[in-house]
Amino acid sequence: MSKQLYELGERPPLGEVPEKMHAWLVRAERFGKPTEAFQKEVVNTPSIGDDEVLVYVMAAGVNYNNVWAAMGIPVNVIAARNKVGEPEDFHIGGSDASGIVYKVGKDVTNVKVGDEVVMHCGTYSRNCAWVKKGGDPMYSPTFKIWGYETNFGSFAQFTRVQAQQCMPKPKHMNWEEAAAYTLVAATAWRMLHGWESSSIKKGDVALIWGGAGGLGSMAIQIAKAAGATSVAMVSGEDKFDYCMKLGAKGCINRNEFDHWGILPHWKDNAGYAKWLKGVRGFGSKIWEVLGEKRAPNLVFEHPGETTIPSSIFVCETGGMVVVCAGTTGYNATVDLRYLWMRQKRLQGSHFANTVQCNEMNQLALRGQLDPCMSRAFTYEELPVAHQLMADNKHPHGNMSVLIGATGFGLGVSGKPAVTMVHPTLPKGDVHTTPAPYPISAPLPDIAEAEAITIADDGTKVRDLMHRGIISCTPDESVGAVAKIMVDKEIHAVVVMDKDGKAIGVVSQTDMVLARQGRTPDQARSMQAREIMTPGCATCDADLLLSEAVSLMTGRRMHRLVVTEKDLPVGVISMTDVVRKIIE
Ligand code: NAP
Repeated sequence: MSKQLYELGERPPLGEVPEKMHAWLVRAERFGKPTEAFQKEVVNTPSIGDDEVLVYVMAAGVNYNNVWAAMGIPVNVIAARNKVGEPEDFHIGGSDASGIVYKVGKDVTNVKVGDEVVMHCGTYSRNCAWVKKGGDPMYSPTFKIWGYETNFGSFAQFTRVQAQQCMPKPKHMNWEEAAAYTLVAATAWRMLHGWESSSIKKGDVALIWGGAGGLGSMAIQIAKAAGATSVAMVSGEDKFDYCMKLGAKGCINRNEFDHWGILPHWKDNAGYAKWLKGVRGFGSKIWEVLGEKRAPNLVFEHPGETTIPSSIFVCETGGMVVVCAGTTGYNATVDLRYLWMRQKRLQGSHFANTVQCNEMNQLALRGQLDPCMSRAFTYEELPVAHQLMADNKHPHGNMSVLIGATGFGLGVSGKPAVTMVHPTLPKGDVHTTPAPYPISAPLPDIAEAEAITIADDGTKVRDLMHRGIISCTPDESVGAVAKIMVDKEIHAVVVMDKDGKAIGVVSQTDMVLARQGRTPDQARSMQAREIMTPGCATCDADLLLSEAVSLMTGRRMHRLVVTEKDLPVGVISMTDVVRKIIE
């Protein structure tokens, strides 16, 4: 008679699936700091479909997406799933893992019970018409990231995956190393190999941003395996040796330059000339590192807003800048003259399809891809691992957590065909840059909401708006923001950064959400940046009121910041519209 629940580390006999399992759960009522949002619970072990596999998890990888899931921003992943009919009121995250197959659905042919596997995080419906006719699953409307957009990820004794997600585990890696690389390596693989004639090849030069980071460390190795030369960008010389051991020809310390950021307007002669001087210096530095006057024909991008202008500028004529994130912000400015005259390509890329994941895994199986695991944690430390990431106090490289494995360093059962030097990061290394903006920001869509149209009587936004912006800084305490709201009798406060740029809005709803699962004191001591809704929708004062109403209802927003000559001058809200209707 099988047990109903096995203790952690007590592995059930192969193929025996207990009714219940231990897991780290996130629930909506405790969205917030990862150390509070993640809690241990016992839940039913998930059942599987015909094309699915149940894997006993040995170790799980730590990624930013579950920091965001724990915080409940920018998407409440539980509510999103409930909306499409999934009943569970909890989230089990985890989008990277190594483990052992315990059960397979009746249509599964690529793995069997007992196989040691790693899993990639790309899921899609096999019944999707696009996929069925041979389309790239990455473009399928059914595509979802396992353990973020789907439930029953790897932070539990058992995880439910689609069979196509399972790939052989490299025998020379221990469980925690094997759980660390797939998400970042597959993303880097598609970026470098997935774009037809622009894909990396022997003799190419690649400029790799964040060379010591999760994606960058994989990109350097993938470029090397393709016979290309790479130049790694890092924030300090202490990381040069690490990137060179991974295969970079040379490195550049980005702190030697100060021209980063949004491109000055091309009509701003002085500003543009200063930027040009900076970016030319950066280009010369690339030549110096390469030892020849060659421009990178591939630029591996993810910092986004602060670096895209330079990436486009230094990219070779006919080359490609490929981007998968906007870690420093989403507004990437491009001097189009360089894009069209020199026929460069700015290509978006997101995760990878099944074929690409498996191509990447071949490198790992051969021993040509070090997982660059910088730190592994015990099961008990799972929330701490995510908190370190949220606070940007984690080391560079990739991190993982033991789940079923009873100790570090277990699970090695063979030697790789190729042996590489295992690089180590500088002692005490931690990130020094702000935590990234999420990659999963919901995009405004035409079909998002039915925009309401009101009769146009010629009223303009300026006729009804409230002049003056009531704002706070991102560091202002929630208590102070609440006082502003009450004293000024307003429903929302605009969050402005030190340059006077509106970066978000704290609304009454945000306040209520911040109080959930927290004491009044905890909620009051949070900062505006932690609870604000990022981004700030604006409209011109001369916009017709009817158009502003359509904009607000279409995007499900209650207010717009009003600008005159691009400067914020006031706010128009739905309350103002209602007041006008009543009058
Ligand atoms: P990571 O390990 O934190 O590495 C990012 C690196 O970027 C850091 O090591 C840092 O290196 C560098 N960096 C930070 N701020 C920078 C700035 N202002 N300018 C230039 N470089 C800067 O993160 P990761 O795992 O590589 O992921 C990077 C981004 O990609 C994240 O936003 C992540 O969410 C996203 N991502 C997207 C996908 C996808 O499928 N779309 C998949 C995986 C990851 P230095 O400080 O040494 O320069």
